Amino acid sequence: MQLYALFQNQPTLASHAIRGRDYICPECRRVVRLRGGFSRQRHFYHLKTQASCRQHLKSISHLQLQLHLKSLIPTISLEKPFPSIARIADAAWDEAKIIFEVQCSPISLEEAQKRTADYQSLGWRVVWLLHDQRYNKRNLSPVELHLRSAGAYYFSRLHIYDQFDIIHQTRRLHRGPKLSVTVREPLPVPVISHPPMALKIRNWKLSFRGDLFDRLSRAENTRAFRRQERLIRRRRWLRRLARGYLTILHALLAVYATKK
Ligand SMILES: [Zn+2]
Repeated sequence: MQLYALFQNQPTLASHAIRGRDYICPECRRVVRLRGGFSRQRHFYHLKTQASCRQHLKSISHLQLQLHLKSLIPTISLEKPFPSIARIADAAWDEAKIIFEVQCSPISLEEAQKRTADYQSLGWRVVWLLHDQRYNKRNLSPVELHLRSAGAYYFSRLHIYDQFDIIHQTRRLHRGPKLSVTVREPLPVPVISHPPMALKIRNWKLSFRGDLFDRLSRAENTRAFRRQERLIRRRRWLRRLARGYLTILHALLAVYATKK
């Protein structure tokens, strides 16, 4: 569903659009018009259907998160075109040179890698936001493993979060609580002594206030997390034992978010 389009080059929400007026699709640059109302969500439709344009495929949750990013960071541009690499970014934050890519649907590993590399070639850093209706399950696909190591958080509705995970091969053995991330506060990746595996596999270019990097950089004893990871990877009865201790560690992680 397409929830916004351009009018005189300004992004306009379907809820603010006028019926019968011609708007321009930010992706294919063709004419779109408003439809819906009363019982149906107002949205734009293409006057002539365009096979190559994927705007109408975007889910409501995808669009809602884009609009949420815009409300958190008002200077962000939604659907910013990058003609030299033939891409349109979901949300581009010019001052910080950060792109947020919202992912609700499946994507191939190749496409995810290519997309990240394309933006990086222009000097932008990409942060992926993965909808937990599809991602953050027990088994991780190659693309999810890749994105989590390249720079990705999860989200549900409008809540963007990070997580302390214990992953063995492609299996999530342990999932910590959702750690709220403040996307308008990017930070350099901190140096952490004795980082647990959960951080070692991350090849991130930046961190944000409230994420696992940020919280562990404030935690006094990151060794404890490392030890728990080792225990949980081992025997089943040890896992059960370790889980109890993990709840204490998680409680500490929650505290570290608020400490400045
Ligand atoms: Zn279009």
